[in-house]
Amino acid sequence: MTADKTNLLNLDRRDLEVFFAQLGEKPFRAIQMMKWIYHERVTDFASMTNLSKTLRERLAECAEIRPPQVVLDQPSRDGSHKWLIRLDNGNSIETVFIPEPDRGTLCVSSQIGCPLDCSFCATAQQGFNRNLTVAEIIGQVWQASRLLGDQRNGHRAITNIVLMGMGEPLLNFANVVKATDLMQDDLGFGISKRRVTLSTAGVVPALYRLREVSEVSLAVSLHAPTDELRNELVPLNRKYPIAELLAACKNYIMDKPHRRITWEYVLLDKVNDSEQHARALAALIRDIPSKVNLIPFNPFPGTHYQRSRPVAITRFQAVLMAHGLTTVIRKTRGGDIAAACGQLAGQVQARGHRLNRMAQLATG
Ligand code: SAH
Repeated sequence: MTADKTNLLNLDRRDLEVFFAQLGEKPFRAIQMMKWIYHERVTDFASMTNLSKTLRERLAECAEIRPPQVVLDQPSRDGSHKWLIRLDNGNSIETVFIPEPDRGTLCVSSQIGCPLDCSFCATAQQGFNRNLTVAEIIGQVWQASRLLGDQRNGHRAITNIVLMGMGEPLLNFANVVKATDLMQDDLGFGISKRRVTLSTAGVVPALYRLREVSEVSLAVSLHAPTDELRNELVPLNRKYPIAELLAACKNYIMDKPHRRITWEYVLLDKVNDSEQHARALAALIRDIPSKVNLIPFNPFPGTHYQRSRPVAITRFQAVLMAHGLTTVIRKTRGGDIAAACGQLAGQVQARGHRLNRMAQLATG
C-alpha cells in the first residue's frame, strides 16, 4: 500500500501549486502536472519528460497518481456503458456513460451508498458507507475518458457530466466542489461550466454555500408538490421542507442570467402522477426559471412502487407544458444493464446496517 504517498488526483489546481511549493518548485509545475494527468492520462512520473530527472525521482518517492480501478465494463445494447469501480474494503460504486447523437453524458457517483433513504431509490436500500475522495470522484471521469477515448461521432466523447449516480453530492461538499472544479478546469477535463450538473435532494444550507464557491448547474430531486407527500418519498424534506428548498434554489440562480433549475420528478403509479399533482407542481415553480425532467420510475428488486402508465406520463407532461414549463420525459437508457436512474447499486458495506446488527447482538 501507498498510504503515505499523496495521490495527486486528490488535489485541484490550487492544491497542486501548494504541493509543488512545498517541494521548492515553481507554481507552473502544477500546470505541467495537470496536463500530464488529465490531457495525456499519464500516471507514471518517469514518462513526464518536461520535468527534471531529480524532480521525477522525488515525485516517485512522495506522490502517486492512482485512479480507482474499473473491475467490470458492462456495455448496453443502446450504447450506454456501466462501469463497476472497486474501492477499498469490499465497496464498489457505479459510473454510467450515456451517448446521444450530439453529446455524451457521464453520470458520476459521490458517495458509497447514500444516507438519505428515499423510498423509491435502489441506492438507498444499500445503506451508506462513506464519502468518496476527490480522487475517487474525478477518477471516474479519468477512467471513463480513458476507456471511451477522446472522440466519438465527431465530438468529444464526454461533453456533459451529471452528479446523479450514487450518493448525495451536497453531503460530500468539499470533495465534490474540488472534483467539479477539476471537471471544468481547462487543465482538467475542460467541460463547459453549464454542462456540469449537480443533482441534490435538497440540502438547503449547502445550496447557499454552493452558490459562493461553484458554478455548476443545479438539478433538484423534487418528486412531490406537497410536504406531506415529499416527506414520505424524500425523508430529507422533514428537515428542509419545500418552501425552504425553493427559496434556496431561487437564491442559487439569482443574478445569473441564462441559468435555470432542472427539477427531477420520478413518476410513480398512483402516488404522485395525477393531474392535480402536475398542476400543484406548476404553481409551485411558476416564478423560477425552470426545466422539468420527468423520470418514469425504474423498478428494482424489492420495491413496491410501479412505473406510471404511459397515459399518465403524457398527461402529466401536457399539464406542465400548458403552464409554459419546458418538460422532457427522460428516456430510460441502459435498462438492460440496470444503469438507469435509481438502479445504481454497486456493493456497499453499509455501516448503518452493520452497527444495527452489532447493537442487536449486544442486547442479545
Ligand atoms: N442524491 C441526489 C443524486 C442522485 S440523482 C439526488 O437525489 O438528486 C439520481 C436521480 O434519480 C434522482 O433524481 C433520484 O430521485 C432519481 N431516482 C432515484 N431512484 C429512482 C428510480 N427508481 N427510478 C427513477 N428515478 C430514480
